[in-house]
Amino acid sequence: MPRIAVVKKPLCNPEVCGNYLCTRVCPVNRAKKDCIVRSEDNKVEIDEKLCIGCNICVQKCPFEAIHIINLPEELKKAPIHRYGPNQFALYNLPIPVFGKVVGIVGINGIGKTTAINILAGVLKPNLGSYEKEANVNEVIDYFKGTEAQLFFQKIRDGEIKVSYKPQHVDLIPKKFNGNVIDLLRKADEKKQADEIIRLLELEKIREHNIKNISGGELQRVAVAATVLKKANLYIFDEVTSYLDIKQRLKVAKFIRELADEKTAVIVIEHDLIALDYMTDLVNIMYGKAGCFGIVSNLKPTKNGINAFLEGYLKEENVRFRDHKIKFEVKPPQTYKREHTLTNWPELTKKLNGFTLESKQGELYINEKVGVLGENGIGKTTFVKLLAGVIEPDKNKLDLKVKVAYKPQYIDSNSGDMVMVVLQNAIKKYEVELIRPLNIKPLLKMKISELSGGELQRVAVCSCLSQEADLFLLDEPSAYLDVEQRLIVSKVVANVVEKRKVCALVVDHDLLFLDYLSDRLLVFSGEPAIHGIAEGPFNMEKGMNALLKELEITLRRDQESKRPRINKLSSVKDREQKGKGKYYYA
Ligand code: ADP
Ligand code: SF4
Ligand code: SF4
Repeated sequence: MPRIAVVKKPLCNPEVCGNYLCTRVCPVNRAKKDCIVRSEDNKVEIDEKLCIGCNICVQKCPFEAIHIINLPEELKKAPIHRYGPNQFALYNLPIPVFGKVVGIVGINGIGKTTAINILAGVLKPNLGSYEKEANVNEVIDYFKGTEAQLFFQKIRDGEIKVSYKPQHVDLIPKKFNGNVIDLLRKADEKKQADEIIRLLELEKIREHNIKNISGGELQRVAVAATVLKKANLYIFDEVTSYLDIKQRLKVAKFIRELADEKTAVIVIEHDLIALDYMTDLVNIMYGKAGCFGIVSNLKPTKNGINAFLEGYLKEENVRFRDHKIKFEVKPPQTYKREHTLTNWPELTKKLNGFTLESKQGELYINEKVGVLGENGIGKTTFVKLLAGVIEPDKNKLDLKVKVAYKPQYIDSNSGDMVMVVLQNAIKKYEVELIRPLNIKPLLKMKISELSGGELQRVAVCSCLSQEADLFLLDEPSAYLDVEQRLIVSKVVANVVEKRKVCALVVDHDLLFLDYLSDRLLVFSGEPAIHGIAEGPFNMEKGMNALLKELEITLRRDQESKRPRINKLSSVKDREQKGKGKYYYA
């Protein structure tokens, strides 16, 4: 059976484990062969050919730095890319299809970005021999007899031109100095800047400096710049981050329409409703995060997403997760008055030309309230009012509840170690927070070294470890993969139930909110001018209010019970709209 060994170098700490413990327990080493040896960087390196897969080192290493993996039998072939000795290996590649939007779905660290970087020509694959890059003819040979062979032939012949939107749009202001329009004119090979600006609703910020625009605006500018380049393969890595629901739908529709017989589109996406809406086909990536990743065959989107949730690929006969991800249709809950945690009267707050109004409302003990609304509509202002960070214009608030708050933008500049920041959680909430959020591997890292998803988990953990009656989480799904989003839902639900508290969760991933929420607080109005908060309502009423405004209807997939958007003007769409049931008929 083919086998790989992965050493997570940042976790390996030979002085603390007891002087290279693994090298002393390995039976192959004890038989005087060099299976595990010290590497040049004073960590360890494992010779995969000598390793017998006994797993003793894995069990003995106190830091979970070693992973020995028996690969599926069919992976006898060398990987398409390996970063280095005992490092991540990628098997197979997603292949673009002209005329179609292909989605890639998989957990973080499974190789999605690696795969896309190879397609985009940013990373030259090495076919497993990390001493040198493979040349394109070797890659063609490697893929002989497959679609990928044809694709790399086209690359060789200069017939593929790629335009690529990277994941981290926050890096753009660090690299580019100037206004939105300067950046777009520079990218504008198609001479369509004005049209794309209109389509992506960027008119108002044309003359704004890139450094001063919001995350959602930056994301749309990045999409605009990507599509203004002349290309026949467009790749979008996580296009929904920072976008509200309305913008997600718009951008998803826009990306859908990019594909034609001469143009292929690939997207990586964790918002399953958006992924479902914008793609025709999906590739699932599975394996072991940080160790190896395999790309599945192409599947029609509906089946592919269901297979991903199921954790089982029928055609390949591969089970890649030991449990299914299930969505349950929750019966509406009934609350009794004595369970009220707090309530507020009608409120108004004026802030530089923006007015927020809130109807009166209340929160109950032991409930999770989802908060829905566009960017710039006053959600954060409302949350700050409840948290007592700012005061309403009249009707002073006295909520008598202690609030813990996780902001949308998390400061990543701290040099503090995670174990210092999370002291309280480590002491008190090992089972409730540290374990499910998988914080242990991060404890010795500095906040500034964490990836977006790692930082998010730490921020959620820190907020939920405070002593409070009301937890306010602003966009906890950002940078998390599908599995992590659902874990966060469960962690929040567990905290709320055990500690008899309440959680308010602002988010734009409808599937995540549907999974998490008992009730919904809904914001409407005009962004940056006037916001109105109403509710909390029960799920059906809250969702109906939002979906009606968006002019979309949601149904439940029969198999997985996940929510899906109905095709505009389809029978179901018309039927649900006719009955006023925008949310699941
Ligand atoms: P995804 O996009 O699915 O989150 P990535 O392709 O970014 O996954 O990364 C997959 C794994 O590859 C990571 O967990 C990391 O261990 C490894 N990796 C990524 N970039 C490098 C690199 N430059 N050198 C070594 N390992 C890397
Ligand atoms: Fe010690 Fe683990 Fe590093 Fe081996 S891998 S040297 S056991 S810390
Ligand atoms: Fe040695 Fe391999 Fe066994 Fe680890 S799994 S102890 S490297 S033989």
